[in-house]
Amino acid sequence: MMRPTWAEIDLRAFDRNVSAVSASLPAGSKIMALLKADGYGHGALELARRCRPDQVAMIGVALLEEALELRRGGITRPILVLGSLTEPQIHAALDHDITIGVPGTEALAAAANVARERDVRIHLKLDTGMGRMGVVETELPEVVERIRSAPRLRLDALYTHLANAGDARDPFSDEQIARFRTLVATLRDAGVSAPRKHIANSAATMRGLVDPGDYVRTGLALLGAEPLDEGVDEAMDEAVNEGVVHAHAARPRALRRYEPLLRWRTEIARLKELPPGHAIGYGMIFRTARPSLIATLPVGYADGYRRALSNQGEVLVRGQRVPVVGRVSMDLVTVDVTDVAGVRPGDEVVLLGRQRHESREDEVAVEELARKLDTISYEVFCAVSARVPRVYFDGSDPLRLLTRFEP
Ligand SMILES: *Cc1c(COP(=O)(O)O)cnc(C)c1O
Repeated sequence: MMRPTWAEIDLRAFDRNVSAVSASLPAGSKIMALLKADGYGHGALELARRCRPDQVAMIGVALLEEALELRRGGITRPILVLGSLTEPQIHAALDHDITIGVPGTEALAAAANVARERDVRIHLKLDTGMGRMGVVETELPEVVERIRSAPRLRLDALYTHLANAGDARDPFSDEQIARFRTLVATLRDAGVSAPRKHIANSAATMRGLVDPGDYVRTGLALLGAEPLDEGVDEAMDEAVNEGVVHAHAARPRALRRYEPLLRWRTEIARLKELPPGHAIGYGMIFRTARPSLIATLPVGYADGYRRALSNQGEVLVRGQRVPVVGRVSMDLVTVDVTDVAGVRPGDEVVLLGRQRHESREDEVAVEELARKLDTISYEVFCAVSARVPRVYFDGSDPLRLLTRFEP
């Protein structure tokens, strides 16, 4: 009954990624699983349910709404909201035992006000150079004053965020970490300290920029995508140079540290033969150069298959790469399957992820789509829209189907 376009998410691969990240951490450190934006489109509730307390200390989200959705879904683990909250929002968060992220002095004032009536647990963010969220050095006296005069405000952690941790050659991360230590020492000297710290996102975690006992705020690595900028390109260049893969191929599995969870698939809805010189799609930006077999796929930019992939994207059919031809439209994509032997309507088409067919196997990696779209994996994942049903797997066993449409 369901539309033939859906995203498959392998929760057992998530478990393995969590275990691998957890095993890489120094003594006393734990993961804060960053599941904002619905787990970058993978489904925050499903992923949160898989988080084991011995590996994952907390779940981090951006919005109060995201935290409440997890609570409503039965998640009882500690949750941190990273984004700024107003006083009414702080009350609502506390009603659901949600920890308050304090990214600035305004949010601290709000938390301190609420703390006149009830206990408030906060994580305070320090700006160490990113210039976006967090309190800066000149605000520390105000911060100290607010915290010292609010006995029911409990400072559970101090944290900061790195601006360029993906680039291992950029010394800025080290500078930010040094700056963080200085700010933490300044606060300590003024009588304000916290039992925890957290600095590292996925990239910094993979680079080992983690002190024993610190939490790590990891999102992308748990989803099996590559957080290191150079990691992707260098490993790819190396593999291409060594002839392991050709230039547009996926990153071979062996070069990856973590496993992708998501596989976005559709099917061939129509197959038609077109003569040479025939235009395809809006704007006629593609014309057949030979007698061609063109497949129409029931997916489009409304599903998150971005329009910028017009004449650029590649998808997998019968384990083989074929090009997107013509414009991606709202609900349809056209691909050239002239070279695919035995292709038929109803054949599976993989837009993102791996496909195996008989002896052939290939993958459209999220990094590949990100590079083509001049963006990052995060945005490619977040783009997969709510119109695409999510099918959850535990290994090869289908567990659950989530769709915004009535069955
Ligand atoms: C999203 C986010 C993270 C997670 O980043 P990844 O690169 O996905 O690991 C960490 N910290 C903050 C403040 C975030 O907003």
